[in-house]
Amino acid sequence: MKIRRLETAELKNKTVLVRVDFNLPRDADGAISDDTRLRAALPTIEHLREAGAKVVLLSHFGRPKPGENNEGLSLGFVPPALAEAIQAPVRFLSTPNINAVKTMEPGEVMLLENTRFLPGETENSAELAEELASKGDVFVMDAFSAAHRAHASSAGIAEHLPTYAGLAMERELDHLAQALDHPKKPVMAIVGGAKVSSKIDLLEHLVTKLDMLAIGGGMANTFLLAQGLDVGKSLAEPDLIGKATDIMKAAKRAKCKIILPVDVVTATEFVEGAETRVSAPDGVKSKEMILDVGPDTVTALMDAMDKAETLIWNGPLGAFETPPFDTSTIEAAKYAAKLAKSGELIAVAGGGDTVAALAAADAVDDFTFVSTAGGAFLEWMEGKELPGVAIVTE
Ligand code: AMP
Repeated sequence: MKIRRLETAELKNKTVLVRVDFNLPRDADGAISDDTRLRAALPTIEHLREAGAKVVLLSHFGRPKPGENNEGLSLGFVPPALAEAIQAPVRFLSTPNINAVKTMEPGEVMLLENTRFLPGETENSAELAEELASKGDVFVMDAFSAAHRAHASSAGIAEHLPTYAGLAMERELDHLAQALDHPKKPVMAIVGGAKVSSKIDLLEHLVTKLDMLAIGGGMANTFLLAQGLDVGKSLAEPDLIGKATDIMKAAKRAKCKIILPVDVVTATEFVEGAETRVSAPDGVKSKEMILDVGPDTVTALMDAMDKAETLIWNGPLGAFETPPFDTSTIEAAKYAAKLAKSGELIAVAGGGDTVAALAAADAVDDFTFVSTAGGAFLEWMEGKELPGVAIVTE
């Protein structure tokens, strides 16, 4: 993958439209509860300001009805926080008024109102893309987390302007390519989470790419069913037994070793502090639920990590929000973090709950890279071409 890098762009005195992801979580009082995405945008903004560019930021926020001006979903709460972070004023433009952009000085930063208020944004309308593009000289895509959607502000604009990857996007793509496109082998993945149904494409793609695939979480239960085992009251998808069998066959053909739980943690009640029992996968009682993988499985995962050079992780191994069913996820994550920290393993993780699960294990900082993108990370793991990535690669 050849990325069009920002360092190669002509930026002085240019008006640069930058697609960022300021879809920031807010608490009940409206305060920003997690500014990770805001901070992720800072290196690109600083780079552009130092290069003497006029910086026009574009972002969506929430899910307003297409084209609807929904006050509750205004991006007006961002400029004060951003201004503080960059120690410079940030202008906010509630209507995409081209003349205001024309009066900007080099180094100035402006944020446009929620792009989803614009009719045609989510349909990637050619007129809107052209209108947005007419405000700038260069387009920088810096929102990997929005790269799986072909919207006017994240893909359409690129048809009209020279387009580059922002620094956060570049870092993300470099790490993802290192993990799956040209990994140091052996390469393994740990895929957990609730259901097989949401990860069929991902599993089918991964078995063609990996040396080892460990399956945990609720989704492992369907694989146990496929082996003829009884999983009691566990979350499982009997209608996907055929799919699970196909995936195991495909793995065998591709010489990808599938690692399923060799023991499981069960309970009759799914509550915090529930009484638990460790069982062999074929010993689950009819009233029990499998809510985590067992200690021997964690040991098997650690052995696999010892053999692997690269690890990709998506999804928790158990119902980690409810202790003690967080045990295996935390132990395995801590081990991966330790290997990554000492340089013995390239450990990359991402997708939805994964970040929360790794954060619970205090493992995020020691992983080689943790992507905060949800859907985009999954689609990349599924081997799909992401529209927002296609526009910044040759
Ligand atoms: P996903 O969004 O598909 O990655 O799934 C994450 C969810 O899977 C988390 O909320 C976990 O609590 C849940 N989960 C993981 N393992 C189990 C399990 N054995 N039984 C029920 N839910 C699980």
